Amino acid sequence: MRKKIVAGNWKLNKTAEEALSLVSEIDNMVKDEVSGDVSVVVAPPFPFLQSVGKLTQGNDKMHLAAQNVSEHESGAYTGEVSAAMLKSVGVEYVIIGHSERRLYHHEDAQTLYQKMKATIAHGMKPIFCCGEPLEERDADRHFEYVGKQLHDSLSYLSNEEFDQVVVAYEPIWAIGTGRTASSQQAQEMHEYIREQLSRMFDAEAAYNTSILYGGSCNPGNAKELFSQADVDGGLIGGASLKSRDFTDVIKSI
Ligand code: PEP
Repeated sequence: MRKKIVAGNWKLNKTAEEALSLVSEIDNMVKDEVSGDVSVVVAPPFPFLQSVGKLTQGNDKMHLAAQNVSEHESGAYTGEVSAAMLKSVGVEYVIIGHSERRLYHHEDAQTLYQKMKATIAHGMKPIFCCGEPLEERDADRHFEYVGKQLHDSLSYLSNEEFDQVVVAYEPIWAIGTGRTASSQQAQEMHEYIREQLSRMFDAEAAYNTSILYGGSCNPGNAKELFSQADVDGGLIGGASLKSRDFTDVIKSI
């Protein structure tokens, strides 16, 4: 059975105090309102990982994620944060290959592969993001584009390493734009992703991989998106910054 996951990517938002108040609201709402088997993941900025993690420790449903990781183990890499450091403060998931990091920080497929390796080697799970820009969809090349992203960063992993991977499909034209993929567009891409994964790894592992949808997912559209056969949850940006909205998205699963 594949895991249902709803992950909140806080990006470059919140101060220390705001982060703690947001996570404690989410933690309480999840305890009071969320039943069933869903993993709720929060990805605060690096400085708040430890305090946010401490607050959610007693709640089995809540898990901690980092928004990025260095591909290097240690050394002279000013400003970087290693997988060992993240693991040591209780991080369980790491978002890797978000389109904002690919675009603004020029992260290429090989670097992403190395980040995945480092994450898995330290006992954490990568949430590998993929998704096409608008011009690729308009040119009807979206499947090819996403297939290449998967192949270029994932295909060198072993079957055992791949077992740890969560995939997030995030069409770039839907991120932070208020324009979401239709449930049909999401389902057909998720099905395609699962098929590509089954070619690279064994079919059972591909079947068991959680594939999340991301891109302007909110309480109004989450139920319809999450009802699709190959949509196993969501990676949520804007709506994860408000405890009420995020909890309502979680409850849509
Ligand atoms: C994201 O950036 O991962 C994301 C899905 O953002 P939003 O929900 O704001 O579109």
